[in-house]
Amino acid sequence: MQKEKLYGKTLNELIAVTKRVRLPGFAAKQIADWLYKKEIFSVDEMTNLSKKMREVLSTDYEIGLSAPIKSAESTDGTKKYLYKVLDDKYIETAYIPDDDRSTICVSTQAGCKMGCLFCMTGKQGFQGNLSSNEILNQFRSLPEFNKMTNMVFMGMGEPLDNIEEVLKSLEILASEWGYGWSPTRITVSTVGLKKTIKEFLEKSRCHLAVSLHSPFDEERRMLMPIQRTNSVKEILDIIRDFDFNNQRRVSFEYILFKGLNDTPKHIKELARILDGIKCRINLIKFHPIPGSEFQSPDNQAIINFKEALNAKGILTTIRASRGEDIQAACGLLSTLEQNKSKQP
Ligand code: SF4
Repeated sequence: MQKEKLYGKTLNELIAVTKRVRLPGFAAKQIADWLYKKEIFSVDEMTNLSKKMREVLSTDYEIGLSAPIKSAESTDGTKKYLYKVLDDKYIETAYIPDDDRSTICVSTQAGCKMGCLFCMTGKQGFQGNLSSNEILNQFRSLPEFNKMTNMVFMGMGEPLDNIEEVLKSLEILASEWGYGWSPTRITVSTVGLKKTIKEFLEKSRCHLAVSLHSPFDEERRMLMPIQRTNSVKEILDIIRDFDFNNQRRVSFEYILFKGLNDTPKHIKELARILDGIKCRINLIKFHPIPGSEFQSPDNQAIINFKEALNAKGILTTIRASRGEDIQAACGLLSTLEQNKSKQP
C-alpha cells in the first residue's frame, strides 16, 4: 500500500495526522518544523519524536519528496527541470537567477484546460491537478533550493483552477510554522477566473498577475478562450473593488505578438481599461512554439510599446527573455518527454 505524503500538508492537516495515529498534539508542530525548516528525507530523521512515535508515523506516512528527472541549463544560467507527477505525467519548473535574486517558477497542473492559443501547455490539454506536495516539491527538491528568494506561480497550468492546493502551498510558504516567507516574495499568475480570484485575494497576501494580452474582447477571445466566460472587464471590476494594501502588487502580463496586439490602438485601449487601477504592465516577448503562426516582435518595437504606455502613466516593464536556448516556452520540454514516453 502506498504511504501518504507528509510534505505539503498544512499545520491543521498535520494535527489531523497526529490525531489519526494517536500521537500527542504537540507533535504536529514538531513535524512541521522537520518538514519545512530542516532538510530531512525520512520520518526516522525526526529525532525529537520518540522512536516509538516515529515507528507509528512511518507505518502509514512518508516525507514524500522526489527529485527532478531531467534538467537543461541555458547559457544565461536559467535552468529548466522536469518532474514526474501523477504517476506518468510531466511538469516543468524553471530556476531563474538574476543578480541578487533567484526566482523559481512552479507549475500547478499537468497540462491546462485554458487552451490559450500561444501556449504549448494549453496544447497538451488538461491532465490533472497537482497536490500541494507536488507543487512545493518542485521548490524543495530543486538543487538550488537554498538560493531561492522569490517564487512565481507561472509554470504549467492555471493556479486559480487548482485553488485549494495552491492556497495550501501559499499557506505553507508564508506561515511562521512553514517556510516563513513574506507573501511579497510570491506572485500568482492567472488568466482571471472570477469564481476563484476573490478567494485568492481574500485568503492570501501574495502579489497578483493577470494575463491580459489584449484589451479588446474579440481579440482576447481568439487568444484566450477563457475570455468567453470570464471577461477581462469582470476581472478588472473585481480588482477595482478589492482593497489592496500598499505592499501588494497587481500586474498585467502582456505577451507582444508582432503586428497583432502592438498597435497604438492597443495602447490607447489599455490605458482606458486600466484607468483607476494601481498596477504595472509586464511586457513579454512571444517565444515561438511549434505549429503557431504568431511572430515575435523585434526588441525596438517592444521598447517603443513600453515607452508609449509609460507616457500614458502606466508603469511598464519588459521581462527579459531567459533561457531561449533550452525550450524556454513553458510546456515544450514536458511535451517532448510525453511524446517520447508514448513511443513504442
Ligand atoms: S498560458 Fe497558462 S492558462 Fe493559458 S493554456 Fe498556457 S498554462 Fe494554461
